[in-house]
Amino acid sequence: MRQLIHDVRIFDGTGSALVPGAVLVEGDRIAAILSPYADLDAIAADVRINGGGATLMPGMVDAHCHLSWGSSVEKIYHQFLLPADELKAAAWRNARVLIDHGFTSAYSAGALGEDIEPDLARAIEAGETPGPRLVPSTLERSPEGEEGVETGDVFNGRGPDAMRAFMAHCRDTGVKSVKLVISGEDALKPGSAQDILYTEEEIEAAGEAARANGLWIAAHSYSGRAISLAIKAGARILYHCSFADEAAIDFMAAHKDDFFYAPGPGVSVAALEAAPPPHIDMRAMKDSATERLQLEANIVPELKRRGVRILIGGDYGFPFNPHGRNARDLQHFVDYYGFTPAEALSAATMLGGQLMGQPVGLVREGYLADLLLVDGDPTQDAAILQDPARLIMIMQGGRMHKAPAARTATA
Ligand SMILES: [Zn+2]
Repeated sequence: MRQLIHDVRIFDGTGSALVPGAVLVEGDRIAAILSPYADLDAIAADVRINGGGATLMPGMVDAHCHLSWGSSVEKIYHQFLLPADELKAAAWRNARVLIDHGFTSAYSAGALGEDIEPDLARAIEAGETPGPRLVPSTLERSPEGEEGVETGDVFNGRGPDAMRAFMAHCRDTGVKSVKLVISGEDALKPGSAQDILYTEEEIEAAGEAARANGLWIAAHSYSGRAISLAIKAGARILYHCSFADEAAIDFMAAHKDDFFYAPGPGVSVAALEAAPPPHIDMRAMKDSATERLQLEANIVPELKRRGVRILIGGDYGFPFNPHGRNARDLQHFVDYYGFTPAEALSAATMLGGQLMGQPVGLVREGYLADLLLVDGDPTQDAAILQDPARLIMIMQGGRMHKAPAARTATA
């Protein structure tokens, strides 16, 4: 099937200004990008969509996503760990909530059950349930005795052999990414962000075994030491990095093409905004959020200046930071890290697509047709992406998830 989307202004994902034109989609791919002067009547198309001057852009990518963290804008859970059937219902729902809000791809930063994400990723790919293209993850792995990091984490023994066995096990479960918790977490256990939870030998073995098994590593890493371990392990993506010192920043810049970085402001900002009832103590979380945002205000712009690829995604899924609000990260990049809206958009599209390792995140010939039609200009105001009513069309691989009202089918 050929679909022609015309009378649009195109944001191609690279960060350059909007360009008027039209896009031809054939099957699941972008077949051509046409200038506004092209003779569109001469182009054979089964469906013609009049964009009415709206912005056509790539679907967004969440780089730090936990679909099995239950809460979304549609349903808040006040417990973190859910029974198996409810967990599955929540993860399936959250996948649909993400694509409803313009996210056509997501990289998982950890699951609360072993098989849940491989199953969900397969169901999405098969078109059985709506959701973002998903890089499925393991449970979060942290070493034994690490209390307070209550994210359903797993432990499979210490030492390099245990790491190798864990990677082989992960391959068999069908995940693509393995989440390693290399640093502690101040928000859950004050003072622990400086802790290093693995030895150099364990991390090296993990890196080698991941490569041998075709797996990627996602690293929860805060301090300079944790960051260097993650990079040495060949981690595909580093999260947080809030306590990076000058040496760590230099090390990251020197290896900038080897990894992606997602600071994750969403959860910090939401923690500061939250007004919990008296029986919920969020003081540690709020203190940690304040400190992290202050540090990241210097670190993130410096890393961006030095060419590190910085992505959006902010631990959505807590009751105070529910799924569906994921696009808030773009505006946080503007407000807290000094990005222009176009730079934040490029982080959410082109760079996210590179992380996925699939031809997504750009409006470019040959790329998968994951496309949004947006009412307004998000390169001027990234916050409009937070309003699903402004998303006129959501297309994934040429298939309409949300069809625009103005659509003419040609016989
Ligand atoms: Zn996370």
